[in-house]
Amino acid sequence: MNTESAEIIDLESYDREKTKELLGQLGGDVSSCFMCRTCTASCPISVVDSRFNPLRIIRMILYGLIDEVLSSDFVWLCSSCYSCQERCPQGIRITDFMTNLKNMAVQQGYAPAGVKAQMDIIRDAGRIYPLDDFDNKKRAKAGLPSLPTSCDVVKKLLE
Ligand code: SF4
Ligand code: SF4
Repeated sequence: MNTESAEIIDLESYDREKTKELLGQLGGDVSSCFMCRTCTASCPISVVDSRFNPLRIIRMILYGLIDEVLSSDFVWLCSSCYSCQERCPQGIRITDFMTNLKNMAVQQGYAPAGVKAQMDIIRDAGRIYPLDDFDNKKRAKAGLPSLPTSCDVVKKLLE
């Protein structure tokens, strides 16, 4: 769903208790937002991609549109630069809120394929990029020591 298509909201489906519970889980105190738009004006991603708008995401959550946000691709566009969080006059922890949204999306099975693939690599190899014998040969040529191709410590930590 594109954030631009969220202009009309069907409040028939609004569940006050569910939204309240969710806001508690997400943190960030977003309910004190008074819509000054400083966050969106400060956001470098909003400048280059109109699908991403932190104020709109906050309003969508406040209106109970959690599934629309979690299943979207735009929630992943936040670069965690903290510009919005540092400038919000209400002291809302917007960046932390965006990070919590991503974590919740993963927990609910909404992570995009690329993020899932990277999670699998970290779980199996203990690194963002897996190493193999070919990499170690290149390291040897460069005079670097060989590195283990698997990392059980990370696997154990994740378990
Ligand atoms: S800067 Fe803070 S108060 Fe202003 S719109 Fe964004 S979240 Fe709301
Ligand atoms: S932390 Fe995310 S939402 Fe906030 S300004 Fe940076 S990219 Fe935009």
